[in-house]
Amino acid sequence: MAGKIVLSHHNIDFQKQIEKISGEKITSCDQCGVCSGSCPFTDEMEITPSTMMKMSQLGLPEVMEANSIWICASCFNCMARCPRGLDLSKVAEALRQISLRQAVDSITIENIDKEEAARLPSIALVGAFRKLTG
Ligand code: SF4
Ligand code: SF4
Repeated sequence: MAGKIVLSHHNIDFQKQIEKISGEKITSCDQCGVCSGSCPFTDEMEITPSTMMKMSQLGLPEVMEANSIWICASCFNCMARCPRGLDLSKVAEALRQISLRQAVDSITIENIDKEEAARLPSIALVGAFRKLTG
């Protein structure tokens, strides 16, 4: 018989923080995997959307270390097909906000190739720094 998973207070606090910021009832996800099969960016992600949901349910802060939360483009493919009506884009956004509140920068201007930066539209750079830096 599979053992019951017991979450620590730390895990429960993190789970509740994600639910509060996202407005999504992440504990209702039943891990059907439809979101992972629907997401156009799953191949680029270190963890699939359904794994992101599972780690969020378990209140594991390690979920913020995966590139998946930054790659999610809020395309709503998963939400349109989720049998539980969950919006993973809001969960990913909540995880980004929590990460950014820790003042962790996911990009730094020094690491952008100068020639590449010169080619990019200014609005893309501004948007990237607004989304990816604390
Ligand atoms: S489609 Fe919905 S219920 Fe299924 S794994 Fe994804 S978030 Fe959970
Ligand atoms: S909203 Fe995010 S997780 Fe959902 S299908 Fe689009 S990119 Fe993937």
